[in-house]
Amino acid sequence: VEDGGGSVAAVRAAVTGCADRPAIITRHAELDWSGTLESAARIAGALRSLGVGRGDRVAILAANDGLYVQLYLAIPWIGAVLTPLNCRWSVAENAFALADCRPSLMIVGEGFEQAAQDAIARSGLALPVVSSGALRPEWVPASEFSGHAPVPPEQVDGDAPWGIFYTGGTTGRAKGVMLSGANVAGNSQTVRTLGVFPDGCRALIAAPLFHLAGASALMSTMLAGGAAVVAPGFHPAETPRLIADNGVTDAFLVPAMIRMVLDDPGFDPGLLSGVQRILYGASPMSEALLDRITAAAPHAQFYQAYGMTETSAAATLLTPDMHRDENRRAGKHRSAGRAIPGTEVRVADPAGRPVAVGEVGEILVRGPGVMLGYWEQPETTAAALANGWMHTGDGGYLDEDGLLFVVDRMKDMIVSGGENVYSAEVEAVLDSHPAIAQCTVIAVPDARWGERVHAVVVFHPDTDTGEEELVAYCRDHIAAYKCPKSFEFVPVLPLSAAGKVLKAELRARHWTGQSSNVS
Ligand code: ATP
Ligand code: MG
Repeated sequence: VEDGGGSVAAVRAAVTGCADRPAIITRHAELDWSGTLESAARIAGALRSLGVGRGDRVAILAANDGLYVQLYLAIPWIGAVLTPLNCRWSVAENAFALADCRPSLMIVGEGFEQAAQDAIARSGLALPVVSSGALRPEWVPASEFSGHAPVPPEQVDGDAPWGIFYTGGTTGRAKGVMLSGANVAGNSQTVRTLGVFPDGCRALIAAPLFHLAGASALMSTMLAGGAAVVAPGFHPAETPRLIADNGVTDAFLVPAMIRMVLDDPGFDPGLLSGVQRILYGASPMSEALLDRITAAAPHAQFYQAYGMTETSAAATLLTPDMHRDENRRAGKHRSAGRAIPGTEVRVADPAGRPVAVGEVGEILVRGPGVMLGYWEQPETTAAALANGWMHTGDGGYLDEDGLLFVVDRMKDMIVSGGENVYSAEVEAVLDSHPAIAQCTVIAVPDARWGERVHAVVVFHPDTDTGEEELVAYCRDHIAAYKCPKSFEFVPVLPLSAAGKVLKAELRARHWTGQSSNVS
């Protein structure tokens, strides 16, 4: 039992002696650590006066901003449950999430007032709202937070629910993942022991704070007594400038963000020269893209994280040494690294038995970061956590050095003529072709092979590359049965808020009225 389920106690301990060091840096303001803690205590008092108590969910619909960062302290401060909503969701998706988590209060950021009002109306809930710009007379303006008297943090069990984070919704409807303070604070602290987000770092918080990956980067920064340099949304043209102007030392970026930064016509690599550590992950990153970012940020050390909302973000980490030349030559940089200290990773057959080195199976994770369960879904939870291991639904293998290679989501594997094809492997080849800006590979029905490897491709502008050339290119790099048998050329791919391709959406167009091994 500790202040704010342990997370508040750990942050307060970490920032003793940092009172006048910066904690939150936005485009408009800078707040030091004493101001941040004071403000969190005031917001906590205001939340309590609005009737929020221990275990109550507080929903947040906002882009990253200074207030969002403070809510990561203020909500656990009184033992309430942080419940961030995805600010790219439709009204229907927001309404579904509200009905699912039944919050006691909703906090709405600038620009999301209408979306919040529509979602609340559709959910049928009578919900008090705090908002930056009040749309309705009964809504409480967020500015009133600062006028409230501060309250001391509450003593909360470290294993009690601390947050409900919705998964990325890449494979279906997003699931609410219940995490404890011990899960999240413990995991973020363990990641730090590997060298990223060191004491006093200045970290870019550009990944959305409604996903656990962004939240975890923020928690690591707080536990370092560092400064969160908060980007309101992600703008490929502005983010490098923000990094340079604020002396960012550590950045967590998802591959889609890295691609957008590097593809921006005005990109100036000089702006990344001060970055010391780049942590990437949350989806696979092509080798071509890793090469480009390595060249663009020559002074940075690189880390890759593999994990999921259900494992409090990182379960494994690929450390900078594995990105060095001799290990690159051995292909080690294509792995997702080793389990972080205190966590175990197993690659198993469908019965849960470990498979041999080099053999592909399902990745299982066990350790202190594994979720309490899915919110109000006991059956789904029991299946996911069977035998005490988190069943990730990802396929992978371990090599002789214990490095984990993630090959594909099981749902994205293509079974063509009895052979397993990993879509991620085919994508990596296509991605390395200079004419291709983005691509994805999916299974489509095939009369002869059951499923066929099908590529959906976005070209860079002004290319005269065609299907034949791509087929020849793939034949040069991978076995014939892995090469796409059909192509589709499109202007853009459907992406989730975390920049992941929504393959289920693309597959659905081909599978109407037919059954496949994927859902
Ligand atoms: P949903 O569960 O709703 O379908 P999601 O799985 O995308 O969405 P997250 O929990 O945000 O939601 O993402 C976790 C998944 O992201 C992992 O299961 C894995 O498939 C993928 N992933 C994460 N890190 C990596 C990585 N380093 N390399 C490859 N894939 C990764
Ligand atoms: Mg998932």
